Amino acid sequence: WAVRTDSGRTVTARTVIAGCHVLTTFDLLERGGFDRARLNAWRRRIRVGPGIGMVLRLATDALPRYPSGPADESDAVRGLQLLVEDRARLRLAHGAALAGELPPRPAVLAMSFTAIDPSIAPPGEHQVTLWSQWHPYRLSGGRRWPALAESEADRIVAEIERFAPGFAGSVRHRHIQTPHEIERELGLIGGNVMHVEMSLDQMFMWRPLPELSGHRVPGADGLYLTGASTHPGGGVSGASGRNAAQRALADAGGGPLRRVLGRWRR
Ligand SMILES: Cc1cc2nc3c(=O)[nH]c(=O)nc-3n(C[C@H](O)[C@H](O)[C@H](O)COP(=O)(O)OP(=O)(O)OC[C@H]3O[C@@H](n4cnc5c(N)ncnc54)[C@H](O)[C@@H]3O)c2cc1C
Repeated sequence: WAVRTDSGRTVTARTVIAGCHVLTTFDLLERGGFDRARLNAWRRRIRVGPGIGMVLRLATDALPRYPSGPADESDAVRGLQLLVEDRARLRLAHGAALAGELPPRPAVLAMSFTAIDPSIAPPGEHQVTLWSQWHPYRLSGGRRWPALAESEADRIVAEIERFAPGFAGSVRHRHIQTPHEIERELGLIGGNVMHVEMSLDQMFMWRPLPELSGHRVPGADGLYLTGASTHPGGGVSGASGRNAAQRALADAGGGPLRRVLGRWRR
């Protein structure tokens, strides 16, 4: 295999483990001359889905304080803070997103990392990340994300303000990542941080497709797939990397049978 990097360097290897989005890997394969018809057939069957949400990364001079939270305030800010009162609100936001609409009220998950490790911000400052669901990648009525980023960010901050009065006034700086930015900055197609929709038909031995679920790519010996596009999906577990590495090592001669035969020969 030869992999050409953005800087123009060509790296050759017997084995490549591709950790980018599976559709990106298909594009790279196509550029390398892989059978386009086969790639198109795979592309058609993979559903990226509507995306999940958007993120606000905030620099603040205080942590959120929740009057309705635990008596020991530090308990609340040391964990994930899912700011919803009932499941109906989650369903409403999800349903709206499926129709390309913004959530009537964003379902915000607050993470205040400086409550655990103050060293990641200058003294007296804090980092708070607000992950908000569901904000669809494709908006109805031809609306575009760049025009909506600021107003959606305001709505997300207003949502945390309901639960933690005074928080909005503590925000010093904010970095907004809409689904559009998540795709542009991180290569997460459709703004889906899980790469491919985490629906039952695309999980387990069906992720991303039955014929690709073993991390190998039929017709491309020495190429392996890993990352959120493969089992067990998105999130920071490292499990798919371990599985892909085991397959690659086994194929390269490190399988149990080969090891036993090797020992016997020696
Ligand atoms: C804001 C945000 C908050 C999240 N919060 C959580 C959380 O709290 N808990 C959790 O478990 N998960 C969370 N996730 C999801 C989690 O981060 C992802 O599911 C996970 O990072 C996916 O890992 P990955 O290695 O499969 O893919 P990625 O992290 O998408 O890595 C793919 C890599 O491929 C590279 N790449 C793309 N195209 C090319 C190319 N052409 N050539 C070479 N390289 C390429 C990219 O630069 C990138 O480094 C969050 C994601 C985001 C964006």
